[in-house]
Amino acid sequence: SQALQRAESLIATIPDFPEPGILFRDISPLLANADALRASVDALIEPFAGQFDVVAGIEARGFLLAGAVAIAAGVGMAPIRKAGKLPRPAASVDYALEYGRASIEMSDDLTPGTRVLLVDDILATGGTLRAGQQLLAELDLKLAGTAVLMELVELDGQAACGPVHSVFQV
Ligand code: IMP
Repeated sequence: SQALQRAESLIATIPDFPEPGILFRDISPLLANADALRASVDALIEPFAGQFDVVAGIEARGFLLAGAVAIAAGVGMAPIRKAGKLPRPAASVDYALEYGRASIEMSDDLTPGTRVLLVDDILATGGTLRAGQQLLAELDLKLAGTAVLMELVELDGQAACGPVHSVFQV
């Protein structure tokens, strides 16, 4: 659709951030535009309509989408946070970053078997979303789907955590 094409054009490409040689995709201008945000959120959830009870967003930019998805789909949301931020972490998954390691955590606010749509802004190598999927599995939650706004195709994140639904591919 035209709104989606406009939304895609609003994703900024920033060279050498956060380090020299990295081409950073910045979704902030898309988020700032009401029609682009609405069209993007609708496209993000479209394949999973009626198939999830809760949306889980990964800190930090996944949070920006999860709240919007929750209202658009009429479901609740659950935050997946970096280690040390939650007062009552119920599960934790350690995973590899490009340099070093990280951990993400979740509370046990959801009943086992709850169908969860996992969202984030960007799929790069897939390590982050894979860790998110493992976290949901540890809590006996059902993965209803994994969705991102943009997929960096050449990094083949689908191999790590696919199938992932992406609204835009670059
Ligand atoms: P992965 O674990 O390599 O797939 O990296 C995905 C995570 O890094 C996501 O949580 C993204 O928010 C972040 N990320 C990776 N590349 C970019 C980018 O170009 N722009 C914004 N975030 C990015």
